[in-house]
Amino acid sequence: MFIEIEDLKAEPLHVHHVFPIDEIGFSHEDASLSSGVTVDFVLTHHERELRIDGTVETTITFSCSRCTRECDRPFFARFGLFYQPQPDWGARGAEVELKYEDMEVGYYDGVTFDVNAMVLEQIELAIPMKVVCREDCQGLCDQCGADLNEGACHCSREELDSRLSVLLDFRKKNERKED
Ligand SMILES: [Zn+2]
Ligand SMILES: [Zn+2]
Repeated sequence: MFIEIEDLKAEPLHVHHVFPIDEIGFSHEDASLSSGVTVDFVLTHHERELRIDGTVETTITFSCSRCTRECDRPFFARFGLFYQPQPDWGARGAEVELKYEDMEVGYYDGVTFDVNAMVLEQIELAIPMKVVCREDCQGLCDQCGADLNEGACHCSREELDSRLSVLLDFRKKNERKED
């Protein structure tokens, strides 16, 4: 979805749109969209400077960071953004930096605003780094890869056995010292 700045009226523009999954171009190693992306925002503008406030809502399928099992999570983010035409840094750079030093400013070409790119950026900024399928997920065995949620595997038992035998050896040595 593109907004032509020439077409904007003086009054705020309200946009409500549901983007199909494949239209946003979301691609992530451990996550994918599992429903369309609902976007609501109000765009106000002063000449070619844009102020956009709204929300983005979807469902994301994550792969659990412990057991890799897939799990769906609702996703919701609120945003307040400010965009201005790409400045001519040579002439206006210093002035722009001072004026907006406390504000996150995005840039666009001043002619056409790409809504899809904005939506994608908002999802990527707010997406959690790690998701677990459930708080007590046991994860995978780091040796054989078995899903420990489905019960213990042999390795974990052997590891325990080897720890025990080290302990027994240690005791034996100590006993010998005492002799
Ligand atoms: Zn898990
Ligand atoms: Zn194992």
